[in-house]
Amino acid sequence: MNSNLYALLGLGVAVSFVMALKGLSAPKTARRGNLIGAFGATIATVIVFFDPSSKEHHNTLLIIAAIAFGVLVGVPAARKIQMTQMPQLVALFNGVGGGAAALVAIVEYLNLSAEGKPSTANLIATVFTVIVGSTSFSGSVITFLKLQELMTTRPVVFPGGRFVIAATLAGVLASGGWTIASGGNTPLLVMGLLALLFGVLFVLPVGGADVPIVISLLNAFTGLTVAASGYVLQSTLLIVAGTLVGASGTILTRKMAEAMGRSLFGTLFGAFTAKPQALVEGGEARSVKSGSPDDVAILLNYAQRVVIVPGFGLAVAQAQHTVRELADLLAAKGVEVAYGIHPVAGRMPGHMNVLLAEANVPYEQLVEMEEINPTFPQTDVVLVVGANDVVNPAAKTTPGCPIYGMPILDVADAGNVIFLKRSMRPGFAGIENDLLYDAKTTLLFGDAKDSLTKVVSALKAL
Ligand code: NDP
Repeated sequence: MNSNLYALLGLGVAVSFVMALKGLSAPKTARRGNLIGAFGATIATVIVFFDPSSKEHHNTLLIIAAIAFGVLVGVPAARKIQMTQMPQLVALFNGVGGGAAALVAIVEYLNLSAEGKPSTANLIATVFTVIVGSTSFSGSVITFLKLQELMTTRPVVFPGGRFVIAATLAGVLASGGWTIASGGNTPLLVMGLLALLFGVLFVLPVGGADVPIVISLLNAFTGLTVAASGYVLQSTLLIVAGTLVGASGTILTRKMAEAMGRSLFGTLFGAFTAKPQALVEGGEARSVKSGSPDDVAILLNYAQRVVIVPGFGLAVAQAQHTVRELADLLAAKGVEVAYGIHPVAGRMPGHMNVLLAEANVPYEQLVEMEEINPTFPQTDVVLVVGANDVVNPAAKTTPGCPIYGMPILDVADAGNVIFLKRSMRPGFAGIENDLLYDAKTTLLFGDAKDSLTKVVSALKAL
């Protein structure tokens, strides 16, 4: 391929990645943004086969076979995955990306070493890629295991843990320095293995609710790894794509930590400094007020303003269409209806927005936490559909609990609160919610979709 055409196509791909990010920043344009990004990535994958700067192309068949294998595994996995398991899938794909970048850097390093000692700049880029890529790979595997509940979701800490982590990090850096100084293969191997161990140790102390922040951080790491491997391979496209992932991943990590009321340092190392948790009193039995679908329908029928607070349980029950039916019915009866959206409701950023968009809920009805909170005192009924942690007052009142400091939806300020859930089990953070026992709270037990269907029927009959 003519080198001008190749450069022009590369530029087009880089622009498409920027446009994809822009599109993904708003729900209305997200689907288009995603398609533009996928299109750009496809073009980028195809044009490398025609890179005019490569003198000869080796192993083309092997590469095509690897791509076919990736497509055969990746497409069905992405299609079959439940929306609620998306963070795990992202973690796994991201980890594989980091691992791949590290492997590519190692292969390139071996090629360069065969021709003599690589330049210091190349050595530094290789060392960076292998360290960050290996850390991202093993760390992502642990986040996957945690979110898939194949291992405990609680922080794993052991005596002297932080010293072991610090010593491993020192070992990684020392072997990195050794690799740069000597250009040898043994230090590179030692460094790669230590970086894999560091990735595991780095993620183990992170507790369940904070794992998604770490996934986002590792995603940013992978971006930087890809950018550095772009330097080694002299690929502008990899540098651009990697930098975009690194930058957007960093912003997302910060935003998620903010939404959970955490500092990044606290998220990563909080388990080592945490005081023993204020345990939830389980001994004495407290009574709750449960109601029937008819009771709930009556309460809603006579309300002037209702706020629906969706949470993870809405996704589990796939009740988004039924919740919309209920909202439409209430609106038709002259009730003002809004949805209160917490930034970390569900299991991934934007989870509730995506779910409700699927049911064509008008975007104007989705109100973010900061805006909806002042309106709760003027709200007659809050319908909490499968949410728990995001409305749990313990975030304000119980220092030391896993969600302490996280801003919440202040639903307790409303006149009545109705919880739709199946049992008294806690939410993701594993802590009890005092609001369930509050005098203004009514519990409607059952699967959210079943309960909502019954409430809709009861409301129609009124
Ligand atoms: P929670 O996990 O706190 O609560 C979910 C509630 O849904 C539970 O009380 C559960 O109770 C109920 N539930 C589950 N299935 C059903 C069903 N079929 N029908 C009715 N109810 C059901 O969810 P929230 O959305 O309130 O909070 C999100 C949590 O996840 C936060 O702790 C957040 O930090 C964390 N997180 C957020 C991420 C994000 O980026 N959004 C990523 C990962 C974690 P029961 O079992 O009794 O039915």
